[in-house]
Amino acid sequence: MKNKLAFVTLVLCTLSFALKATVVDDFKRHTYYLASDELEGRGNGSEGIELAAKYIEVQFRAIGLTPIDGYSYLQLFPIPNQQKSEANVVGVIKAATKTNRSIVFTAHYDALGIIKKPGQKDVIHNGALDNAIGVAAMIEMARQYQQGAKPAHNLVFIATAAEETGQYGSDYYAKNPIFPLKDIIINVNFDGFNVTGPKEDYYVMPRQGVDFVDEIDAVSAKLGWVNDTPGWIDQMNTKFDTSTFLREGVPAFTLWTGNRAKGGKQVKSPKFGNIHSPDDQVNDQWNWDGVEDHINLYKAISDYFLLHPDGIKVTDRKLFI
Ligand SMILES: [Zn+2]
Repeated sequence: MKNKLAFVTLVLCTLSFALKATVVDDFKRHTYYLASDELEGRGNGSEGIELAAKYIEVQFRAIGLTPIDGYSYLQLFPIPNQQKSEANVVGVIKAATKTNRSIVFTAHYDALGIIKKPGQKDVIHNGALDNAIGVAAMIEMARQYQQGAKPAHNLVFIATAAEETGQYGSDYYAKNPIFPLKDIIINVNFDGFNVTGPKEDYYVMPRQGVDFVDEIDAVSAKLGWVNDTPGWIDQMNTKFDTSTFLREGVPAFTLWTGNRAKGGKQVKSPKFGNIHSPDDQVNDQWNWDGVEDHINLYKAISDYFLLHPDGIKVTDRKLFI
């Protein structure tokens, strides 16, 4: 009898261990589903992008984020030359005490959809690295904050739509924010994520035209990270959801991992499918081992700006128009 009890306990313990999803498990679950062929590359106006929005809503609800109008997480908006509305998926963690200030997390969940070209067999632009995995990162960031103490400022999590065709989703939010635009402390954006294993260096965009990169570097250095942003990053200044906020004078950044493994060795990235092509799919070359460090870095920087929300600014808006 005693042995039987011990056996049952052992089985239950093993089971609960097996059921506890790791960060990497959660990243994989979101990324594989959002980048699957079933979602047709999440193009504007497609059934696939509606399925993606539903999936993100289900995650936000399960995590316990507050919907924007009592029940729904969808913020509908029009885009040019399309009858059907697009939808940002927006969930909130309210501040511990009433305040208008917020940190806005963004990750676009649209991709290019189905584009038929003569002679091409695969026509689905799955958008795995760009940006199913960025959405996964944002969902997991929301989970981490929801599990912690109530934040000092409001946290808004937005899966934006229609980024690829002109950043329409982030632009609509900036014009129709839940908490005033002028009170946004910073926009923390995810677009692409580390799938090449543990790293020690990172790229941050923007490099110039803002006064808070030193602060990001100081927080990162404490965790052993080094800023190694190349100059060509400046060409990307207007190409992301961050630019929507930066040109309005709201601080914003996106942060990628670089090319150095821990210890400084240069890593030659394995061959990935090009983004904006049907090859942007999850493949067996992806190394998920650095995902957790990357999200931890984002979290440390976000925590810092929650505690130090004052005095950071955009010094040259022209760079982002
Ligand atoms: Zn993107």
